[in-house]
Amino acid sequence: KKKKLLVEKDRQNVWHHVSPYKKENPAMVVTEAKGSWITDHSGNKLLDAMSGLWCVNVGYGREELALAAYEQMKQMAYAPMVQSHVAAIELAEKINEMLDDDYMIFYSNSGSDANEVAFKVTRQYHQQNGDPSRYKFISRYRAYHGSSMGALSATGQALRKYKYEPLSSGFLHVAPPDNYRRPSGQSVEEYNLLRAEELENKIIWEQKETIAGIIMEPLITGGGVLIPHPVYVKKVQEICKRHGVLLIIDEVICGFGRTGKMFGHMHYDIKPDIITMAKGLTSAYLPLSVTAVRKDIYETFKDSEENSHFRHVNTFGGNPAACAVALKNIEILEQENLVSRAAVLGERLQKELAELKSHPYVGDIRSLGFVMGIELVEDKNTKEPAAAQRVGKIIGECKANGLIIGKNGDTVAGYNNILTLCPPLSSTDEDLDFIITVLKKVFKQNQP
Ligand code: PMP
Repeated sequence: KKKKLLVEKDRQNVWHHVSPYKKENPAMVVTEAKGSWITDHSGNKLLDAMSGLWCVNVGYGREELALAAYEQMKQMAYAPMVQSHVAAIELAEKINEMLDDDYMIFYSNSGSDANEVAFKVTRQYHQQNGDPSRYKFISRYRAYHGSSMGALSATGQALRKYKYEPLSSGFLHVAPPDNYRRPSGQSVEEYNLLRAEELENKIIWEQKETIAGIIMEPLITGGGVLIPHPVYVKKVQEICKRHGVLLIIDEVICGFGRTGKMFGHMHYDIKPDIITMAKGLTSAYLPLSVTAVRKDIYETFKDSEENSHFRHVNTFGGNPAACAVALKNIEILEQENLVSRAAVLGERLQKELAELKSHPYVGDIRSLGFVMGIELVEDKNTKEPAAAQRVGKIIGECKANGLIIGKNGDTVAGYNNILTLCPPLSSTDEDLDFIITVLKKVFKQNQP
């Protein structure tokens, strides 16, 4: 009875992020979590193959992280980043070591924050660099970059059009490579080069001297796991350089091992101008994000002249406890080899699920490291996206069997048909067995 009361109180008092408020589908009240598993208010255990919202990379219940926060809080719970503190310095140094390059590290609290900082730095940089007309950003349809107004404006999903307009001006979109849906007769490489060419045309037609930056993820995660061919990413970097446009790489999901490399862009041999990070930075144990800005860009801000200050204050950004947790989180990733583990787990998942490719509703299965998308269709020939009801049924049956998976894509044109998996990188072989067994069982149950 007490448990029922919790759900009822939740429904009456807590405004959830995206969950619908249907009586038959109340939010699950999570009371405990350990490893890859969460326990709900009724004592049901479920494997969280979405790591919450794509972030709990080292798994739940890590006492080391709780202790790192505790020790730091005892010593000093808060320091505004107009000052500095030891954990912030050590973390910045560590991130530079991982990037194997020279960046200045700006701290804030969330992925949205980090992207807002990237936009403001980019605009101000061009102004200071004698290029004041460059203010526009290009991002891709289907990409998600955050919920605050600027980050939402960069987001290329239907939700940006949902009753919040007008959004920030100067945000433009182009189509991303969606290799599964490329025109027949085109090789993946040709198609990716054409998509990069479209992006260049956008720059040219919009007048290149008005374009400040391009923001993109190494692969589009929340928009349906769209993995570009490496030629695309290399070409985009080359286009940016040629037209004086800064390349901002959003590593909010891909960073910290998710794709089988420490950072997703490392698959493509590029050097971004700005890199944003959040989620996996602390494995979500505390809120923290980073905007890493290449040193030579920072140089134009270094001068203490009044007109070159970066005007952006964030009260909690770089919070000492969050920085201490991030440092410990990175130590765990390194000591337990979780980045290479992500690659191993992902490969096994891909191999074991390959048989699902012949399932009538499975159009495509794609993955990089330990992030996977399974695109569901009504008809393999027409590639008509699977109906929402069908996608929902599969997700519901997975949940009934103790497995939480996600659904992503975009509601524009009905492409909300991609099942997503992003389990903790610390998942055990048994966890992976469980994921595979449940998915196979559920797909077997769902036949035309
Ligand atoms: N960028 C990407 C790629 C994301 O997936 C997200 C969050 N899902 C964000 C930015 C925004 O992060 P936050 O929710 O921490 O603001």
